[in-house]
Amino acid sequence: MILIPRAVLLFDIDGVIRDVGGSYRRAIVETVHHYSGWRPDPAVIDALKAEGCWNNDWEASLELLRRYRGTGTDAAQFGDPSTRSAGVDSSARSAGTHFPARTVATPGATSPSFSPSPSFSPSPVPSPLPSPSPLPSLAELVEVFGGFYFGGDPDGDPSIWRGFIGSEPLLVEPSFFNELNAAGIAWGFVSGAEPPSVRYVLEQRLGLLDPPRIAMGDAPDKPDPTGFLRLAERLLAEGGGTGLGAAAPPVAYLGDTVADVLTVQRARQVCPEQRFLSLAVAPPHLQGREHLEARHAYEQRLRQAGADRILSATVAVLANLEILLTQA
Ligand SMILES: [Mg+2]
Repeated sequence: MILIPRAVLLFDIDGVIRDVGGSYRRAIVETVHHYSGWRPDPAVIDALKAEGCWNNDWEASLELLRRYRGTGTDAAQFGDPSTRSAGVDSSARSAGTHFPARTVATPGATSPSFSPSPSFSPSPVPSPLPSPSPLPSLAELVEVFGGFYFGGDPDGDPSIWRGFIGSEPLLVEPSFFNELNAAGIAWGFVSGAEPPSVRYVLEQRLGLLDPPRIAMGDAPDKPDPTGFLRLAERLLAEGGGTGLGAAAPPVAYLGDTVADVLTVQRARQVCPEQRFLSLAVAPPHLQGREHLEARHAYEQRLRQAGADRILSATVAVLANLEILLTQA
């Protein structure tokens, strides 16, 4: 336990601590495809996220469907919907036969179709549908989304999950957090991901013991700063401080979306005396050399939203934070 931290550093999880290009983001794509026959490109999801208010991936999926079915113009705006045809549409009504519901998954009873192998294609057998198909309810979509992402009961044993969550590369090593401890940095996590998913990555994958965290449902969705402020306050108080304010050490947040940057901006409005730092990093699917142009555009949006510093990777956070801490 750090007694008097030099700074509090809170992390977003998806795109920062783990690569969700093949999991949460893929679940968005497959969920949208399930209902519409259209697979949105990564750039389409990035454009939606750049609006700053679609942090919740269920809501984001629903919004993509809403815009896609809205008008032909809207669909064109979201890229080439050439994959769409009456023959590849599927209906929400068929979901129960193809997607294990959260409540029915039992050990040994998981569907073999939820193997996270790269060739896995969970689309139901094509069946023609009248167009445009009605929007699913959020509850219905959550079931389908969870089938892709968890592929089993989210509240059950992770070892029998068969969904995309099984293939999430980590972006930091467990020792990364020891380095933060050694540098006198108190840390925690503020994520919009579901609690079972957050617990899985932090405790099972990274081996952290009950780390300080805010997950979906613990606080309003970002960019509402409530959860961010609450956890920062808690860590400052645990360090023996008096909480947020002019006398407190800086509080930084590292995220990968405009919503994350806006969360810090709004925190500043709530606590103008407290020093906040907004650190941002482009998500892994933009990190390859072949995506240089898209990444620069993405980073520009993060800067415009108010990020104080853009990182090359999550592991560079300590070096960047040190630079900011030397600046008054
Ligand atoms: Mg994120």
